[in-house]
Amino acid sequence: MIVVTTKSGEDTKELGAQLSTLVRPGDVLLLSGDLGSGKTTFAQGFGRGLGVADPIISPTFTLVRTYRGRLCLVHCDAYRLDRQAEVEDLGLAELLEDGAVGLVEWGEVVAPTLPADYLEVRMEMGAGDDDRVITMRPVGSSWSARTPALEALLSRWAA
Ligand code: ADP
Ligand code: MG
Repeated sequence: MIVVTTKSGEDTKELGAQLSTLVRPGDVLLLSGDLGSGKTTFAQGFGRGLGVADPIISPTFTLVRTYRGRLCLVHCDAYRLDRQAEVEDLGLAELLEDGAVGLVEWGEVVAPTLPADYLEVRMEMGAGDDDRVITMRPVGSSWSARTPALEALLSRWAA
């Protein structure tokens, strides 16, 4: 588990951009945290890091949005989904197979349909208004193998 703290929205974007340098086609990040904790802000930085030019906006009402960057980015919000069938309808698995990178907000309901390997990113409010404590947990061998690289990349935000 890697725990870091960011001090502003821009700081979280920069962290997301740094993290994006480690991803490969088919990777998934599960973002969890309360409303306003910074999941979409993180996604914006992550997209910036992947070279996505279009603005990344919250997928809350559309459920899935795709963007083109160095890799295809699929951003989805599973908050309103409560059944497995609805999750499958998103088509995320197919997009990942085609080499996209997936960012899934409120990932819990989606987890059973995803690859066995993923990076869990949990965002929580910190002590100050603009502080966010971000806990990352690599799941599966592909992400575990990248833990040292992840730690090195994120050392400047180490909590
Ligand atoms: P979520 O998608 O989790 O609901 P958003 O990213 O939409 O959250 O909103 C987070 C809000 O908190 C934004 O207005 C952002 O500017 C603000 N904010 C303040 N500090 C931070 C921080 N350290 N990290 C992320 N967002 C922050
Ligand atoms: Mg959001």
